[in-house]
Amino acid sequence: MRLFVSGATTTLRRHSDSPYLGTLVVPNAGNRVAPLGTAGKPWAADNAAFIGFDPARFCHMLGRIAGHPECRFVACPDVVGDAVATLAQFAVWGPVIRALGLPVALVAQDGLEHLSVPWGEIDAVFVGGSTDWKLGVGAAGIVREAKRRGMWVHFGRCNTKKRFRHAYQLGCDSVDGSGFSRWPDQRIPAAIRWLRELHSDSSGGDMEAIAAGFFRGGLGAGVWGELGWTIERVTVSPDGYEVHARYHIEPGDCPQCRRVAPDATRLYRHGTKVGRVRDVPRHGRPVLIVVTRTRFRCLACGHTFAPRPGEIHPGCRLTAAAVARITDGIPAGPVARSIGLDGRTVRRIRARFGPGG
Ligand SMILES: [Zn+2]
Repeated sequence: MRLFVSGATTTLRRHSDSPYLGTLVVPNAGNRVAPLGTAGKPWAADNAAFIGFDPARFCHMLGRIAGHPECRFVACPDVVGDAVATLAQFAVWGPVIRALGLPVALVAQDGLEHLSVPWGEIDAVFVGGSTDWKLGVGAAGIVREAKRRGMWVHFGRCNTKKRFRHAYQLGCDSVDGSGFSRWPDQRIPAAIRWLRELHSDSSGGDMEAIAAGFFRGGLGAGVWGELGWTIERVTVSPDGYEVHARYHIEPGDCPQCRRVAPDATRLYRHGTKVGRVRDVPRHGRPVLIVVTRTRFRCLACGHTFAPRPGEIHPGCRLTAAAVARITDGIPAGPVARSIGLDGRTVRRIRARFGPGG
């Protein structure tokens, strides 16, 4: 998860190597746009609805930001606290933002969970609304569905460590808060500490233990808890989870000569084989499995082989669950991002394994 900050360019430059920061462009911020998307740094644009929406300024901003790479979303003009009026604004402005080649975020407001959400026209979700609503089950349900669809989710007005934790646990990708622009020198380093703690890439402690337990539990779809699998280690980074796993089963026969062990042949252990496989996302984050499989050698015919678990798709470097997700009909861009692939790979997998492929 990243903190998107508007203004504070000097402080942002000082922390330019941090994986936890990004830029939030706002309509009212002067004429100059700092270079956007350089070195792969993600950024997004807000609409200033919270302090008073100005269509002319918003359009001016769209003109300046269109075409810059690494944009995660443009918050579509919204009406604070009113989901119905926000959807009406979305119907007007959503196509404009998309026509400029920019990804559009629907701002989730109080009551959106009871309305029909135009998921097919949304690239991202910006959690707005009243404090009570955004911390409640209504907003959580919207976030869950957006993450299931592989969308970028942003949590607005996040100024405390407690709120950061909440957004992180929901699976949000980014947050913002006015305090970081107002007191950048004090607050931005604090936010980096909070985020580092949440991702636990300094202590390497608790979060990874929790993540390892989570994967071991075999909850939901995925390979975990199936026979032959052992999880050795899970690391957590802003790019997602990296799960180091072993797969070991004693094969009953040789896949080459079909002789049955131990009567007709003997199958000896013959080293290991390491592969990298992408799984379905967890907590809204991509999962890479580095799997070490035991290799065997058939004494009768000399063939060597490493049994492949059924949970890994035979045709590609993905789990069967990930292939099912990719061929599920969700738009290619978001599903690619959620699994950690590029759009081309996703389209290729669809063509090969999807319906009609
Ligand atoms: Zn054999």
